[in-house]
Amino acid sequence: MMENSFYNFKYSPPESKFGGSLKALRGEVLSFVKDPFLYGESESVVHYKDGMVVIKDGKVEAVGDYADIAGSIPMVENIETFDDAVIMPGFIDCHLHYVQSPMIASAGDTLLAWLDQYTFPTEAKFRNKEFADEVARIFFRQLLMNGTTTANIFATTFPESVDAIFEESERYNARTICGKVLQDRNLPDNLKDKTAEGSVIESERLLKKWHSRGRQLYSVVPRFAPTSSRLQLKLAGELFQKYKGEGVYMHTHLNEAENEIEWVRQLYPEAANYTDVYASNGLLGERSVFAHCCLMKEEEWQMLHDHGCGIAHCPSSNLFLGDGQFKYWEAKDASRPCKVGIGTDVGGGTDFSVFRQLGDAYKVAMLHDRYLSGLRSLYMATLGGAEVLGLEDKIGSISPGYEADIAVVDLKPTEFIEWRLRFTDDIFSKLFVLQTMGVGMCVNATYVAGNKVYSK
Ligand SMILES: [Zn+2]
Repeated sequence: MMENSFYNFKYSPPESKFGGSLKALRGEVLSFVKDPFLYGESESVVHYKDGMVVIKDGKVEAVGDYADIAGSIPMVENIETFDDAVIMPGFIDCHLHYVQSPMIASAGDTLLAWLDQYTFPTEAKFRNKEFADEVARIFFRQLLMNGTTTANIFATTFPESVDAIFEESERYNARTICGKVLQDRNLPDNLKDKTAEGSVIESERLLKKWHSRGRQLYSVVPRFAPTSSRLQLKLAGELFQKYKGEGVYMHTHLNEAENEIEWVRQLYPEAANYTDVYASNGLLGERSVFAHCCLMKEEEWQMLHDHGCGIAHCPSSNLFLGDGQFKYWEAKDASRPCKVGIGTDVGGGTDFSVFRQLGDAYKVAMLHDRYLSGLRSLYMATLGGAEVLGLEDKIGSISPGYEADIAVVDLKPTEFIEWRLRFTDDIFSKLFVLQTMGVGMCVNATYVAGNKVYSK
């Protein structure tokens, strides 16, 4: 395979999986400690203009003003300094399909027609492990060069597709969530599970192989209600219930497009609503993640709130496919707030950059006369995503004890942006320029569990 000489990737050294000796990053540091939709913005954010992050054994040992930290921890020998950059928690992508990387940016038609025309034929190729390995390798590099350190990923039907992505994640020692996709009806034979029982047995086998192996985590993944038989959804719910206490996830799509919702109504006429189809099969829980949630009824928000479910807001995908639009003010209603993170939804989404999604999230809100601040959207891209994944005590923030997954955002990604930012002092206004001007690869370096795995 062709090597890209412009960028540098490095697998984590096997002898020091957790980052090795004491080291530090110096520069402007920005992180979150609370949800700014629910608390005041100033108490939600941590910002050091000249800051330092000390890393030990893959975890954050200390963070603060450089002057304070340098005085209190004098033994750091290895200090990397970043000028014109912001040291942030690694971005968290709450929903995407690595198996759609070969067909991202395919033009035309509605969600359901797009699946038939492009997605299903592409996913059918992942029976071949060599192909899956190639895509996993390219895909993971896209994550890292965009500063994404944790992703909640759809594979497809075949176990080869699950093994390929976990193997690649393991080489970087990244915290990744994935699972075999369960789909036994309403899709081509070459992609369909042969039986509901067999598919769930296979999913449990992969769960036992991968869940909590290093930093890898497993999810039970029915694609969406229309592509699972009633029996498969029931068995998927039983599998999730059996293992959710061990931190296993459930990941699926919900209320993305009008024609999808109408199809669900026809297939499950007895259900009170789309969310109820999943709820009645035991698929709602604190580690259930639902992509989209664009066209929700009030009682559905309440169900997601009551069960502590997470939502992946995927604005670029919703715009590209002309689906519904996510309404953050409904999701974050103070009377029953839901956890919301960002999903690129590659390949319905058109960019691997979580940053780029924030620009689209802003525009989607504006279409409804709502303002989404840069501060709030950056929270969704980091700590908000960690909350969606139930990992808010481990990732999504640069705080002592957290896993040192870090993105160094480049404030000079292009000549124009460097010049434009001379007219802006506030850090959130600067980052808003980056998210709005569509600069994808705006990351200087990415650290995973304290190891630098990517640098520009
Ligand atoms: Zn999706």
